[in-house]
Amino acid sequence: MLGAERRAVAMHAPDLASLTPGRTGNLSVRRDDRFAVTPTGVAYDRIDAEGVPVLSLDGEQVAGETAPSSETPMHTAIYREFEPGAIVHTHSPWASTLAILHEPIPPVHYMLALAGTSVPVADYATYGTEALAENAVAAMEGADASACLLANHGLLTTGEDLDSALETAVNVEYTARIYCQAKAFGDPVELSDEEMTAVAEKFEGYGQ
Ligand code: 13P
Ligand code: ZN
Repeated sequence: MLGAERRAVAMHAPDLASLTPGRTGNLSVRRDDRFAVTPTGVAYDRIDAEGVPVLSLDGEQVAGETAPSSETPMHTAIYREFEPGAIVHTHSPWASTLAILHEPIPPVHYMLALAGTSVPVADYATYGTEALAENAVAAMEGADASACLLANHGLLTTGEDLDSALETAVNVEYTARIYCQAKAFGDPVELSDEEMTAVAEKFEGYGQ
């Protein structure tokens, strides 16, 4: 069941290593009303595709030997609300820095358009809870963004597939970093909402 999605989870889990410390973070890939997700607390280079858990959109495990990510409530809530193809969650350091400050990422670099006009902060709730899932949905809905910071915790991104959710995570982390660095030297200048919308449209024709 969901063989290609489980292989994608196992293949891309090691990509988290450059974004998040140790066993933190998780990712998932959806097909129709099921999704494959990283097992909880397993080192990312030791995930066996055969054992990757498959869940229904109400969080019931339907295949796989290993227990799913503790953030399953967040993955199911995001899939039910926004229907992306994949979700990535990290504790990447610069996004987490702003998450600790409860400070959204403003449109200071055009690559942030992968996530929206800005990246909002979801209110704090304990990891793995329905409350955190609700806060993440509310933040993304309110900002019309495909990513949000999780207060005092980390970053959440979505995409039409895993490559796209990971690319957004890398670029949000990059933008968080240069925004923090720019703030250390002066007052960052923001791009307009109109420019970010124009960039998002231009991205549709970008690449090969
Ligand atoms: P899992 O290993 O259970 O996915 O948890 C990691 C995490 O980042 C929780 O927020
Ligand atoms: Zn986490």
